[in-house]
Amino acid sequence: PLILGIETSCDETGIGIVRGNVLLADAVASSVDAHARYGGVVPEVASRAHLEAMVPTMSRALDTAGVTLADIDAIAVTAGPGLAGALLVGVAAAKGYALAAEKPIYGVNHLAAHVAVDTLAAESGGHGLLTEPAIALLVSGGHSSLLYVDDVAGSYEPLGATIDDAAGEAYDKVARLLDMPFPGGPPIDRAAQGGSGDAIAFPRGLTSPKDLAAHRFDFSFSGLKTAVARWVEARERSGDPVPVADVAASFQEAVCDVLTRKAVDACRTRGVRTLIIGGGVAANSRLRALAVERCAPHGIEVRVPRPGLCTDNGAMVAALGARLVVAGVAPSALTLPTDSALPVTTVTV
Ligand code: ATP
Ligand code: MG
Ligand code: FE
Repeated sequence: PLILGIETSCDETGIGIVRGNVLLADAVASSVDAHARYGGVVPEVASRAHLEAMVPTMSRALDTAGVTLADIDAIAVTAGPGLAGALLVGVAAAKGYALAAEKPIYGVNHLAAHVAVDTLAAESGGHGLLTEPAIALLVSGGHSSLLYVDDVAGSYEPLGATIDDAAGEAYDKVARLLDMPFPGGPPIDRAAQGGSGDAIAFPRGLTSPKDLAAHRFDFSFSGLKTAVARWVEARERSGDPVPVADVAASFQEAVCDVLTRKAVDACRTRGVRTLIIGGGVAANSRLRALAVERCAPHGIEVRVPRPGLCTDNGAMVAALGARLVVAGVAPSALTLPTDSALPVTTVTV
């Protein structure tokens, strides 16, 4: 099927077009620069940017794919979770296009779409269809979750999630402490290349035996962020220069250590041989390397889509839409709702 996907849950306006599991177009307009001076995404600014970007991004995607709206078999759109106002812009646009072109519409779950994008063909940046259950580690500015994925089009079981900050949010906050620009992931990743991951022993949240008993697959990054802040402040008070590369590398090691440890534990506990990593933080070089290093001894294959498909985009929504159509799942009503807290157990609304 030829599927168009619309994504507006956060600060990226994304329109993707897929034919089966082949990606034809992936147009993304980001308002990230407009949020940079606030150090985080401002919902009102994001909503307005989606409104302005929607029509040009749609034209760009259709042009690139060489198709018209009339050729499309179905429209998929992120219905949640995400920013309420931002979701409304995408869903309202999708309803308008679906009504005008008389196409079925699927309101879909953003987290499921992050997983589904990896089922695109290798030449499209994914790893092909999932043939057996997988564990998904989704790490972005708004999420840090471990999911058991039985069927990309049907069933997601949440195993754990962050109890405070998301992993990407921790990167963004620590970057601010180190006077690096927003979003903080890329500059910390770069700075860390020149430092040592075991220079400073930062805390590993929710890994003590007591915490593991209650929060085996959950994450916590706010204590880590505070520990980095205290360490940097102490250094500044003492008048010594802050070893930025070592702080970045040691912080990054603490995040990636916990993420990969718990992801491998989830795979082994559930007898799963495939780990999919998605979300903006999946672009991190250390996370990818450590995941592969720790999964290999247990025969677990690590699948990470190409970086452009890890951050928010429309291709992922189209990819999930295609899986739903192929699976024969019924479309949503044209009156479909948005849900800023949509649980991952609900794949279509
Ligand atoms: P949502 O959580 O709703 O998906 P988002 O905009 O926060 O929305 P993404 O666009 O997927 O999610 O990811 C952005 C996040 O990824 C930011 O927090 C950013 O710092 C982080 N990030 C990007 N590149 C890297 C990297 N190389 N290393 C670590 N973190 C990174
Ligand atoms: Mg984003
Ligand atoms: Fe996302």
